[in-house]
Amino acid sequence: MKTVSLVGSTGSIGTQAAEVIGADPGAYRVVAIGAASSIETLAVQAAQLRPERVALADPARAHELAARLPTGVELLVGSDALAEIATGADVVVNGVVGFAGLPVTLAALQAGRRLALANKESLIAGGPVVQAARATPGAEIVPVDSEHCAIHQCLRAVLGEKEMAALPNSPSLLVTRIVLTASGGPFRGRHQHSLAEVTVAEALAHPTWKMGPKITVDSSTLMNKGLEVIEAHELFGIGYDAIEVVVHPQSIVHSMIETTDGATLAQLSLPDMRLPIGYALAYPDRLRVPFGVIDWARMGPLEFEAPDREAFPCLELAYQAGRAGGAAPAWLNGANEVAVAAFLDGRIRWVDIPAVISAALDECHAPVPSTVADVLDADRSGRDLALAEVGRRSGAPK
Ligand code: MG
Repeated sequence: MKTVSLVGSTGSIGTQAAEVIGADPGAYRVVAIGAASSIETLAVQAAQLRPERVALADPARAHELAARLPTGVELLVGSDALAEIATGADVVVNGVVGFAGLPVTLAALQAGRRLALANKESLIAGGPVVQAARATPGAEIVPVDSEHCAIHQCLRAVLGEKEMAALPNSPSLLVTRIVLTASGGPFRGRHQHSLAEVTVAEALAHPTWKMGPKITVDSSTLMNKGLEVIEAHELFGIGYDAIEVVVHPQSIVHSMIETTDGATLAQLSLPDMRLPIGYALAYPDRLRVPFGVIDWARMGPLEFEAPDREAFPCLELAYQAGRAGGAAPAWLNGANEVAVAAFLDGRIRWVDIPAVISAALDECHAPVPSTVADVLDADRSGRDLALAEVGRRSGAPK
C-alpha cells in the first residue's frame, strides 16, 4: 500500500485527490494532510481519511482545529508545517496554490520522494533550485497538470524507463516537438477590443474545466498556457522553439508529442483532473478505476486552431520570460499572481493583467537564482513592480 501526503488537501486538487484515493480502497493510505487555513474542511478530512499528521500554515485558529481532530492525530502549525508533512510519504501531492508551494516542492524532492506536482508555480519560479533538488536519489516529479500528464504518457511510449527517470536530462533526440493544447478559455474567439470590460464572473466561467479561481483566471488570459510552456521546458528539457501551443476547445486531446519520423502521439480522455491525479499516484502502474470514459460515437468533431496572440498577450510574455531564463520566470510568476489578485479584487481590468506583468518584466535583470533566497528575492521584485503598476492603473495608493 502506497502512503500519500496531501498538501493543499482542502483545495480543488486536494479534495479530488481524496476522492481518487477513496475510489480504490486498499491501494493508498493518506498519512498526512495540510492546508493554509481551511480548518472546517481539514477537520472533516481528518475524520474521513484518518491521517497520522495534520498541518496548518496559519496559526490563527489552530486551537479550534486541535479540538476537532480525532485523538492521536498530530497537529503541526506554522509556516513550515506544510513542508514538514511533504517528506514522510511515498507520494507527496502538492496542490498548494501559487508560489507558496515552493517549500513543499523542495522538501518532497530533497527527501527523495515522488512529487505529484499540481503546483506548477514552484517549478516555474524556482526552476534552477528545483532542478538541483530533483537530482536527489529517489526524487521524481510526476506532473498533475493535464497537459504535462499527457506528455509524460506519450514520452513513456518513446523513451525507456531509464530515460524517463533521468528527465529533464534525457537525450530525447527522438522527440522533435511538444504540442500543448489549450481550451482557449471563456474568451476564445473574442477580439482584443471587445475584452476591455469583461467581468470577474465571466473570467471565472471556464467552458470545460472545473478549477480554482487563480488558475481559471490564468486560463482566461492564456497565462496558464504560457506558464505551462515554461513548465514543459523545465519538466522535460525540451527547448522553447520545439514547444508549440494549439487551441483545442473540446479539451479531449490533452497534449501531443511528435517524433523524428513525423508521427504524433497524443493522449485523449474526458476533461477531468482525477485522471492526472490518479496517474501520478499510480505511476508506473495505472489507476484501476476510470473517472468517465469517452463515448466515441457521440464525441463529435475535435477542433484545433492557432491561439490569438494579440488578444491574449500573456502567452507571448511567458515565452519571452522562459527564453530569457534566469530569474525572469520568477518575476513573471510573481507579477502574474499580483495582477490576478488585483483583477479578482476589482482593482484593475482584465486587459490590465498583461500590461502589469509586462511592466514588471521590463525591469528584470536579476542573475540566475541559485538559492531559495534568490528565488524569494526574484518573486518579491516581480510582485513589487507589479503592485506599483496596479497602483498606477487603479488610481489608488498601493
Ligand atoms: Mg493544465
